[in-house]
Amino acid sequence: MTARLKLSVVVPTCNRREVLVSRTLPAIFDQDIPANEYEIVVVVDGSTDGTIEALQKLASPCPFHIIGQPNHGPSVARNKGIQKASGDLLLFIDDDIICGANLLKQHLASHAEPEAVVAFGPISLASGTPPSVLKYAIEDWYKKYYAHLSSQGGLAWPGDDYLISNSSVPRAALVACGGFDENMLAKEDYELGLRLWKMGVRFKYLPQAMAYEFYLKPSRYFLRNDGKSFGKTDVLLSRKHPDYRPHSSLAVLGKTVWGKRLWQYLYVRLPLAPVGVLTLPIWVCDKLCRFSTMQKTGHRLLGIGRGVVEFRAAAREAGSWRALQREFGMRLPVLLYHHVGPSRPGTVPGLTVSPERFERQVRWLAGRGYTGISPSDWACWRREGKGLPDKPVLFTFDDGYADLVEHALPILRRYGFGAAVYVVTGQLGGTNAWDEARGSGTLRLMTTEQIRYWATQGIEFGAHSRTHADLTALSAKDLEEEVVGSGKDLALLLGARVVSFAYPYGFHNQAVDDCVRRAFDLAFIADDNNEGMNHLLTDPHLLLRTMVQTNDSLLALECRARWGHNPFLNLRARIGLRSRLKRAVRSVFGSNKR
Ligand SMILES: [Zn+2]
Repeated sequence: MTARLKLSVVVPTCNRREVLVSRTLPAIFDQDIPANEYEIVVVVDGSTDGTIEALQKLASPCPFHIIGQPNHGPSVARNKGIQKASGDLLLFIDDDIICGANLLKQHLASHAEPEAVVAFGPISLASGTPPSVLKYAIEDWYKKYYAHLSSQGGLAWPGDDYLISNSSVPRAALVACGGFDENMLAKEDYELGLRLWKMGVRFKYLPQAMAYEFYLKPSRYFLRNDGKSFGKTDVLLSRKHPDYRPHSSLAVLGKTVWGKRLWQYLYVRLPLAPVGVLTLPIWVCDKLCRFSTMQKTGHRLLGIGRGVVEFRAAAREAGSWRALQREFGMRLPVLLYHHVGPSRPGTVPGLTVSPERFERQVRWLAGRGYTGISPSDWACWRREGKGLPDKPVLFTFDDGYADLVEHALPILRRYGFGAAVYVVTGQLGGTNAWDEARGSGTLRLMTTEQIRYWATQGIEFGAHSRTHADLTALSAKDLEEEVVGSGKDLALLLGARVVSFAYPYGFHNQAVDDCVRRAFDLAFIADDNNEGMNHLLTDPHLLLRTMVQTNDSLLALECRARWGHNPFLNLRARIGLRSRLKRAVRSVFGSNKR
C-alpha cells in the first residue's frame, strides 16, 4: 500500500488572534482526515496582539508549527511557510478563512492524478460577519466571480482574478516557480498563479470545496492601505507580466474621456489624497448598511475613493502622472487612406486624396507636434508601455497602389513619419482586379521591388489578403489561404515577420477574427460607423481607423487625429438623417398637418 500524500496547511497571519484561535484553526483541527496525514504551519507576520502566546496554548491533533517573523507582508510569510512545510502538497488558508468540514479531503482527492494542478475552491462570507458596506461589496464580488468561473468552467488566464486562499499547490511546482514574489504588496497570489500557468500548470476549480471568510477589514483600511498597495502593484505587475497590462485597472487611463482625464490629473496632483472627505459619508453608510440604497451609495463612494488612492499610488510608482499616462494611457489615432495621387478615370472618387492635399495634411500634423509611427511601434507599446512619441499618429494605406510610391511615401519620408501599407499579395505589380471586376477604373499596384525598397525607408508593410476577397464569404480552407497565406507571401518577400493585417473592405466575422488572431499581432478594421481612438483596452485585432475623405479640411483632419473621427461629419450625417426622418414623417402624416 502506498502512503497517502501528505498535506501542509500554511496560514499566514497578522494581528487577527481572535478569529484565528477561535474559528480558523479549530476548523482545520476538525477535518475528517486522519491527523497523521496533515500538518499546520502558522507564520505570524509581526503580530503585536499576543497571537504567538495564544497559539502556544492550543492543543492540536496534528503536527503544528508556529513561525514568527517581523512584519514583511503575506508573500514573505507564505514563502517562510513553504520552507518549513514538509508536505508534498500545500494548502493555503488565510487567517480569517474558515474551512468546511471536508475541505482538506477534497483538496487531497483533487491531486490524485500525476499531473501537477492547482486546485482551488470558492470562498463566501461566514455567517456572523459584522455588517458593513465592505461586507456587502465583498459578498457581491465573490458571488459574481464564482458564478463567472462556473459559467466558463474554470479560470481564463490572464484575464481572470485568482485567490490563493483555499488553493492547494504541489510543493514541487511552488519550488520550481520560485515561490511568491516578495516585491508584490498585493495581488501576490494572482502573480504566482500567472507564473504557474505559464509553466503549464493546470488550474482545477472545486466548487464543492467551500471555505468561509470572516471579513473584518474596516473600510478605512481598505480604502487607504489596500488602495495604495494595489496601485503600486498594478504598475509592478504590468512591468513584470506584459500580458497583464490590458487587464490592469490602469488600462482605463487611455479610454477615459477628456473631462474625466482632467479630474484624474487634478486629484493625482493634490498634495494630500482627497479621500478624507469620504470618511464621514462612508461611516454613515456603514451604520445604515442594512438599507440597500445605503449599501449602493457606500459601495460607490468606496469605489471612487479607492480609484483615487490607487491612481495616486500608481503615479508615484511610475514617477509622475505624466509618466503613468505615457506607460498606460496613450491613445492612437489611425488614419486610413487608399489612393493618394492624381484622380484616375473611372476609379471610385471617394477613395482618392490629391498629393497636394496629402502633403498639406502631413505638414499640418507635423507642425502640431504629431509623429507618424508604425504598427510595430504600437505593438511594442502595448507590450511594454515604452517607445511612443508624445503625440503618435498612424498613417495606413490599404491596397498598396503604385501611385503611393510617387506621392505619399516620399512626403512621409521627408517628415520622418513611419506608416503602414497593406498589400494584396496575390496581385503585386498588377492592378486592382477586385474593383475592375465590378466596373471600376484601373489603378496599378506596387511591385515587389518597390515594396522591398520602401520597407528599408521606414514604411512597414502588412497583409491585406491574397486576392482582396470578402473573407466572411469563404470556406475555412480558403480563409486560411487568404489570411495566413498573404502573411507568408509577404514575410517571404521581406525576409521578416509580418506584424499586422487589414481586413479587405473592413469585413470580418468571428471565424475571420480567429484566423487573423492566430497569424498576426495586430489587425485593423475599416468601418465608418465604428471609428475612434485606440488605447490599451482596444482589441489589438480590431483596431479602429478613421477614413480620411477626399475633401477633408485641415480642421476635419485635426478632429480625426484628436478624437479618431470627425464629429462634424457625423453631425452633418445626423442632420441629414433628421431631415430624411422629417420627410418620411411628413409623407405619412402630411395629410393631417395640411
Ligand atoms: Zn482594400
